Amino acid sequence: MELSMQYDAIIVGGSFAGLTAAKYLARARRHVCVLDLGDPRHRFSAQPTGSSRRYDDDPHSVLQSMWDEVATYPTVTLLAEAAVSVQAQLGDFVVTNWSGEHIAGRRLLLAFGVSDILPDIPGLSERWGVSVLPCPHFHGFEYGRKPVGVLNASPQSPQQAMLLSEWCPTTFYLDGGECDVSMRETLESLKVRIEAAPVKRLAGVGCNLARIYLADNQIQPLDTLFLTPCHQLNSPIAEELGCAIDTGPLGQTIAVNAQQMTSIRHVYAAGDICRQTANITLACADGMKAAMAIHHSLAFDRDNIEQRDRSNGGFHAGYVNLLR
Ligand SMILES: Cc1cc2nc3c(=O)[nH]c(=O)nc-3n(C[C@H](O)[C@H](O)[C@H](O)COP(=O)(O)OP(=O)(O)OC[C@H]3O[C@@H](n4cnc5c(N)ncnc54)[C@H](O)[C@@H]3O)c2cc1C
Repeated sequence: MELSMQYDAIIVGGSFAGLTAAKYLARARRHVCVLDLGDPRHRFSAQPTGSSRRYDDDPHSVLQSMWDEVATYPTVTLLAEAAVSVQAQLGDFVVTNWSGEHIAGRRLLLAFGVSDILPDIPGLSERWGVSVLPCPHFHGFEYGRKPVGVLNASPQSPQQAMLLSEWCPTTFYLDGGECDVSMRETLESLKVRIEAAPVKRLAGVGCNLARIYLADNQIQPLDTLFLTPCHQLNSPIAEELGCAIDTGPLGQTIAVNAQQMTSIRHVYAAGDICRQTANITLACADGMKAAMAIHHSLAFDRDNIEQRDRSNGGFHAGYVNLLR
């Protein structure tokens, strides 16, 4: 197997979490290779809001500016490539990409994100991110001036309907699902209207929503529908490496500690893959924490210190003693 140079860290996924980590590792003068497939979760969205970056930028230009900034650091290699598999070999990780190259690194950061599993309702997927929206905290301020709907798409949906009633008159579309008596009472106390019938289809011009068709032959005017979908991890790599995986109400996440370390030594995870809450700011914060933890782990690695020590006249001996 012909290997590339040995990187300090390989990052699988170059979006908000991965690029933030890459930037801070590069600023620590570490050699980093980022592999990215180019399909960030919010790619369907016209405009990100509630993020820490400029609200008037579209999501593609926000990410492109992060990518361009990271590319200016000489120790970063950015590859528009998928990581297909990872093997742990003699203390290194060897990532094989789609082109068949083998890339070696001492630490591995997983930041490959998740994909939403949308309900199979005609007219829904093409409106995702435009008039069918995931989160009132991102879009409730802008879209919550008129009556909105919430689709029963996951165990979190009743809570989403309760929350949206803070912004605007809300109808909860049960879509043929169940709603127990106490939940029904809570929703009604918040003036949330409940429609029991299955949803047949959504309609409107282009990606805009105008009407919702129900199986009991009702046709209701509706501009905005919210839903909290279940999700799936974008890659099996974490599972293949043996990382502990948690299962939450919306799907699987990779278990990490406060420093973003997974259950496997020297493997870290950041962003949506390790949290049930999807959010750009939180993904960036995870990336930053992971970068700091990786940098500490590399800096205080005993073999590394001993190697530096030999060329440094004993300056780092104190660290080595501390670690013994
Ligand atoms: C419709 C919609 C609108 C949203 N709007 C907002 C908003 O307004 N504000 C907000 O804060 N959040 C918003 N979010 C949530 C936000 O998109 C996510 O929280 C954020 O993108 C998570 O960043 P991440 O880096 O963890 O993962 P992602 O952004 O999903 O990036 C993961 C990256 O890894 C790549 N990848 C996957 N597999 C591989 C592989 N095997 N090899 C290499 N690369 C791989 C993917 O292609 C992708 O580029 C929205 C989400 C959706 C669905």
